[in-house]
Amino acid sequence: MLLLAYRHILVAYWREPVFRYPILVFEGDDWGAGPLEQAQALDALRQILKSHRDQSGHYSVMTLGVILSIADTEAMRADKEAEYIRLSLDHARFEPVLAAMRAGINEGVFTLQLHGMEHYWPPAVMAAARIDAQVAAWLIKIGIAHSEELPSRLQSRWIDAVSLPSQPLPEAEIYAAVVEEVKVYMQIFGAKPVIAVPTTFVWNNVVERAWASQGVSCVITPGTRFESRDGQGRPQGDGKLILNGERGESGVMYLVRDKYFEPKLGHRAEKGLDALALQTECGRPTLLETHRFNFLGDPAQSKAALAELNRLLVEARAHYSKLRFLSTHDIAEAIVSQDTSLITIVPRVRLHAWLARISKVSRFWKLARLTGLVVPLWLLRKWAA
Ligand SMILES: [Zn+2]
Repeated sequence: MLLLAYRHILVAYWREPVFRYPILVFEGDDWGAGPLEQAQALDALRQILKSHRDQSGHYSVMTLGVILSIADTEAMRADKEAEYIRLSLDHARFEPVLAAMRAGINEGVFTLQLHGMEHYWPPAVMAAARIDAQVAAWLIKIGIAHSEELPSRLQSRWIDAVSLPSQPLPEAEIYAAVVEEVKVYMQIFGAKPVIAVPTTFVWNNVVERAWASQGVSCVITPGTRFESRDGQGRPQGDGKLILNGERGESGVMYLVRDKYFEPKLGHRAEKGLDALALQTECGRPTLLETHRFNFLGDPAQSKAALAELNRLLVEARAHYSKLRFLSTHDIAEAIVSQDTSLITIVPRVRLHAWLARISKVSRFWKLARLTGLVVPLWLLRKWAA
């Protein structure tokens, strides 16, 4: 009865690809149009990532979720029309940031992912500014604006969160915005984005279809999809579980990034190492979410964050001789091409990962204990080990 009740999740966990090696990649969001001190932070990250190689000689990798523009607060201060004016990443002011990104890309320690034209929906921010003095001040602040300083609900690009609960955006506007962001990404980086990371993980099928129509083939998820913000501003979705390799209606493939390494929030190297141990046991790659804010601002804190990142890499290499540093793009490609050099098809190994996966579904596992189902599962695990 218990197996029957949980059959969907049990089958889905069985179908999810099982990776043969421990895989570690840092997923860094919010880089791009924004404070110029990002250039130094990216250089410092580059140096650390470059000082660690896996057994195949590959450097450790951080993906950069790129933001392509920010409000041009200087121009908006001078503008009597009070229209939204954007400052794109290819503006001469951002040259040091762009140069640092490119240096890391050329060295193979950074790979790019589309995070958004802006980290917000500009019409929503403009509308919010009319009723919220803080948002109004943000739009005309002196110096380059930080999107992190906007109210959290407004940092979701693909909804209208001027008031709560949020409202969906018109389909045609989403399409036009996606076409534009892909075009600008292409202008700046010379290639279309393949992977998209929705800001604050709020997006819907319309966004996905638009991305897919512009060549995006993979979307990073936190293991579910949020489509709106509720009355309290909390992200809301249907709660459906998303696993690595599953596909959306539009055909895009999903990857799961549900482990975090944010040193400024107090995360130590151990947190990343625990995630790596858990994901490896479950045959999953470890995508560690992090953000630029960890490496900007207070110099002592940024230095500590870098040191923690370095320690994580040192310990990971010491613990796992077979550790692989791949990019998220490599991971997606391996799943699409069913690359058996990275993904196992050996039933016994897959069974071992499946048992580890289902033992982490706490409600199922509690019931399995109560009903005695754990005994045959434990025997299976012994056999598969
Ligand atoms: Zn972000």
